[in-house]
This record gives sequence, structure tokens and C-alpha cells, in this order.
Amino acid sequence: MATDRVAYREMLKELGDKVKLVAVSKTKPPEDILALYEEGQRDFGENYVQELIDKQSHLPADIRWHFVGHLQSNKVKNILPFVHLIHGVDSLRLLQEINRQAAKAGRVMDVLLQVHIAREETKFGFDAAELEGVMAAAGALPAVRVRGLMGMASNTEDVAVVRAEFRGLKGLLDRWFPGDGLLSMGMSADYSMAVQEGSNMVRIGSLLFGQR
Ligand SMILES: *Cc1c(COP(=O)(O)O)cnc(C)c1O
Repeated sequence: MATDRVAYREMLKELGDKVKLVAVSKTKPPEDILALYEEGQRDFGENYVQELIDKQSHLPADIRWHFVGHLQSNKVKNILPFVHLIHGVDSLRLLQEINRQAAKAGRVMDVLLQVHIAREETKFGFDAAELEGVMAAAGALPAVRVRGLMGMASNTEDVAVVRAEFRGLKGLLDRWFPGDGLLSMGMSADYSMAVQEGSNMVRIGSLLFGQR
């Protein structure tokens, strides 16, 4: 399936102007990205470093690239010069490396802290208690600006579980970023509920670009 422009337009209408749409284009070719770019989309998300670098070098310079995957510390320097927002910061070590590379590049890097909200073991992120320590440490890192939180709900049919996880994350956002935090939560399968629960940034792949 090619890029679904109709689904894109409908989604923009549904989201309104309070929820930012990040189009997650991982594994999809540059033509698919350009199709949405022509519709006016500028925020695109990728989760593999090399793929992001390849695409960035071939696509329009005014695209805002979001890194939504699990970032290894040794790859930070490769994307730091151009990436717009790093969503999945899941260790203090990674945050420190982003600070170091951002300082070198002469910029202040916007990031989101990933919070572990799902029950599954495999998901990365901080828990609520760890968040406290990281927020304190972040205050001493001048080249990073923690803008908010990101999370992924459990991959389950049980909507009550997903809703409770989203609600918990929103509670943490309100605690640490009262009034002005970015909350990156919601993917193709669960974004409507995420928005109901307070998301202001959704990361949508397959609904726009087709199955991977
Ligand atoms: C792939 C991916 C998405 C998009 O997933 P879809 O289910 O295709 O919408 C969102 N967030 C992250 C972190 C991803 O890796």
C-alpha cells in the first residue's frame, strides 16, 4: 500500500491544532515521505539511526526529524547535528551523552524522557521513581532541554489496561511539566484513546504508510 493521503487529511482534522502528528516513516521509502510532505506534513519520525541519516540527506531540509526509537549512546553524535526532537531518552547516561554532543555542536537539544508504562518486560524507559532522579540530574545539563515525556502502552486488546497506562503517564506529565509539557503517546492502534487521555503528540506509522 502506498501513502494514504486521505487517511492523513482525516487524521489532521481529527487531531485538530492541539495535537502534533509525527508521521513515523521507518522502513518506508523517500517517495512515501514526499507524498505527505506535499500535503504539508513536516514532522517525520524514524527509529533507526542509519536509515534516518540516509533519508535526511535525500529529503527536503525543512523536515523536522524526530528520533522515536531506542538510541544507543555511541550513535548520538551522528544525528545530533540535525535531529529536531529525541523522544526515547531512557537512561541518564544517554541524556549525558546528548548533552555532551549538543554542547559540541553548539546547540540545545530538545528531548523527551521515555517512561515505562507498559507491563511488558521488553519496553524501555524510566519508572516514576527513577524519573525524579533524572529530572534532578537534567537540571545540571545545559545543552539538553527536557520538554516532556514519551510512553508506549501495552500491546493488548484490553482497553482498560491501555487507558490506565496512558492516564498514569499524563499524571506524571502534569507533575513534572505542569501546563506546558510535551506528551508523546499514541500510535496507530491506540492514538484516539491517547488523545482522550491528554496526549499532545501522536506517532503514527501504519495508518498513514500501510503495514510494514
Ligand atoms: C513504529 C513506531 C510507531 C508507529 O507505529 P504504528 O503502529 O505503525 O503507528 C510509533 N512509535 C514508535 C516508538 C515506533 O517505533
